[in-house]
Amino acid sequence: MILTLNAGSSSLKFSVFNLAAGEEEVANGLVERIGSAAGQATFEIGGEKQRLDFQGDHGDALSQIGGFLRKQSRRTAGQGSMLDEIKAVGHRVVHGGEALQQPTIITSEVEQTIERLIPLAPLHNPVNLQGIQLAKEALANVPHVAVFDTAFHSTMPDHAYRYPVPNEWYTKHGVRKYGFHGTSHAYVSAVARSRYARILVPRTGQVLSSAPAAGAEEEKKHDKIITLHLGNGCSAAAIVGGKCVDTTMGLTPLEGLMMGTRAGDVDPGLASYMHGLGMSVADYDKALNKASGLLGIAAENDMRTLLSMREEGSASARLAIAMFVYRLRKTVGAFAAAMGGIDALIFTAGIGENAAVIRAEVCEGLGFLGIEISTELNAIRNNEPRFIGHGKCPVLVVPTNEELQIARATAAVIGAAV
Ligand code: ADP
Repeated sequence: MILTLNAGSSSLKFSVFNLAAGEEEVANGLVERIGSAAGQATFEIGGEKQRLDFQGDHGDALSQIGGFLRKQSRRTAGQGSMLDEIKAVGHRVVHGGEALQQPTIITSEVEQTIERLIPLAPLHNPVNLQGIQLAKEALANVPHVAVFDTAFHSTMPDHAYRYPVPNEWYTKHGVRKYGFHGTSHAYVSAVARSRYARILVPRTGQVLSSAPAAGAEEEKKHDKIITLHLGNGCSAAAIVGGKCVDTTMGLTPLEGLMMGTRAGDVDPGLASYMHGLGMSVADYDKALNKASGLLGIAAENDMRTLLSMREEGSASARLAIAMFVYRLRKTVGAFAAAMGGIDALIFTAGIGENAAVIRAEVCEGLGFLGIEISTELNAIRNNEPRFIGHGKCPVLVVPTNEELQIARATAAVIGAAV
């Protein structure tokens, strides 16, 4: 079995997969709203859910997960603990830089590289590294594998990943767009391309049966998808024929869309303007990473709360959501232009999977791209990949499964049947 650990900015997810048994997920859990007073831990095994209040940091969350797995008895032999059956641990690591683009066994050298890259992912790499170190102590006898968020974006062409800044910044300092959330963009686009291939060839007007018509595979090589990963962190990817050609996040996970606490795109001149007013670089960085985005505008970064606040007439919640949606809509237009069209739009992650009203507002006015969603389909709530619009450009909700993607990559690296 493989244990995956996925430490987000405010959440820690884990899963245990039995890949040898049809990729069965035997246990999973989520500790969410880490760092807030309203934290919660949810653990699930054999269809039974446990909910616990949680207060603490990522280290405390990991200890609680370890305690839970230790208590679970071995399903096959009825003895020992589930922890004993773990053959490898797959860790989601946000930034691999140019040095680490493929899933990699974690040696002390790899840990040092992840640490060296902290300035590029200050909210994530420290948490990822902490998770690795704690998990290595708890499970010292199994291999630990890092799976990088940057990897899926390594197919971007140079004209997309380079910034128009002095050339030496790239050659000497690696200043370029890397992109993040790659595991999620890879997973949801692959689900859409495999299960909904028939819908992803709409330009010919051809409806494919389960035995694809001649030419369909050729057409699928060039299908143009935009994926919107909308969680606490948000990013979009432009994907042609399954390969990423552009994404909104850049050198760090701060670029691009407006997020929970991160600003996304602002005028690059803002840094020197604020510095001129006496703000230090560290304070500026902290403000843009931790006190901006939805939180900066409406003093709240949780979309559920913001939607309730807007219902109750909050002007700042209205503005924050309007900005969030407007920037998303502009990005869809830009990526459609970059690809020369769009064959499918995919929503995923906390907001993308659950906030029907945000999906509807993003799609409003995108009819010129063939994007039209059905109010009825959009209102359906479940955990399955599903269509919410059957216009010229199909719109889908695909629940992300970064954990399964990480488990598969981990198994591939260690090369064992697990
Ligand atoms: P992270 O980046 O921390 O992994 P998630 O993917 O869990 O984030 O997404 C967190 C976001 O999803 C929060 O803004 C949360 O409010 C939002 N969200 C979760 N469920 C809902 C819901 N039912 N309606 C609206 N927003 C939701």
